[in-house]
Amino acid sequence: MKIVNSAAELADGCVFVPTMGALHEGHASLFKLARTMSEFVVASIFVNPLQFDNSKDLELYPRTPDRDVEIAGDAGVTHLWLPQQREIYPEKVTTRVAGPLGEMYEGANRIGHFDGVVTVVSRLFDLLSPASAIFGEKDFQQLTLINALAKEDYKSIEIIAAPTIRESDGLALSSRNIRLSENERNAATVIYRALTAARESKNINSARALMHQICSQEPLFKLDYAEIIDEENFAIATDSTSKQRAIIAGWLNGVRLIDNMQMNPATGNTGVR
Ligand code: AMP
Repeated sequence: MKIVNSAAELADGCVFVPTMGALHEGHASLFKLARTMSEFVVASIFVNPLQFDNSKDLELYPRTPDRDVEIAGDAGVTHLWLPQQREIYPEKVTTRVAGPLGEMYEGANRIGHFDGVVTVVSRLFDLLSPASAIFGEKDFQQLTLINALAKEDYKSIEIIAAPTIRESDGLALSSRNIRLSENERNAATVIYRALTAARESKNINSARALMHQICSQEPLFKLDYAEIIDEENFAIATDSTSKQRAIIAGWLNGVRLIDNMQMNPATGNTGVR
C-alpha cells in the first residue's frame, strides 16, 4: 500500500472509500468490497472540521493512525490518501448546502453537519475523480444525501451502498464505540434490540411504540429519535410505504450513536457476523 499526501499523486478512475479514520471492521468491509471491484482502491482519512458542530466533539474524535495503516493495508487498499487541510480547503471553497433533507434527524441535531459532509465529499470527488465511491448504510441519511449529490453534480461517479457490519450482539461498529465504558458498551445493544423488534412488528404504530418502550428500559441510553421513515424522502412512513426504514439516534454518556435497519426482512440486511 502506498501512502500519499496529495491527490495529485493519484490517477483518475479508482474505487474510492472516504473515511475519518479510527478504522474498524466496518471500514475494512468497504475496502474489501472496493478491492473486489478494482485493483486500484483509494481510501482517504480526513477528519473534516466542517461537519462537526462543536469543537469538543472534533477534539474528542478518536485518532489511531498506526492501526489505520495496518487495517487499510490488510483490507486491500492500494493507496491511502492522507490529505492536508489546505488541499481540501484552500482559501476559496464555497460551502455546499445539503438542502431540506440535510436539516432533518441527524441534521436537526447537528446544525450544518450535512452541509459539511456534502462539501467535503464534493471536494474529495473533485480532487480525485474516482470511477466509483463506496459509502456505508450505517449512515443512511448521509448515503441518501451523497446519492443526491452524485445525481446532481457527479453523474459519472457510481455510488455504492455497503451493508452495516455489527458485533455479534448486534451493535453496529463505529469509531465512537471506543469512547464507551464497558457498562455503556453493554447498554448500547438496546439500539439493535429496538430495531429488530421494530422489524418484527406487524405495523408501523406498534413498531414505533416498541422502539420507544425498549429504549426507555435502558436507563443509560438517552433517546433522541426512533422513527420509521420512507427511504425515498425521510417522511414518516405509513403502512403502505414501500421502502420503510427504522432509524434511531441517542446518547450514552455524551457519546452519540446512530443506527438504522430496513423494515422488510426479505430485502433487509442485519449484517450480524
Ligand atoms: P466514517 O469514518 O465514520 O466517516 O465512515 C466512513 C465510511 O464507513 C462511511 O461510509 C460509513 O458509513 C462507513 N461505516 C462506518 N461504520 C460502518 C459499519 N459498522 N459498517 C459498514 N460501514 C460503516
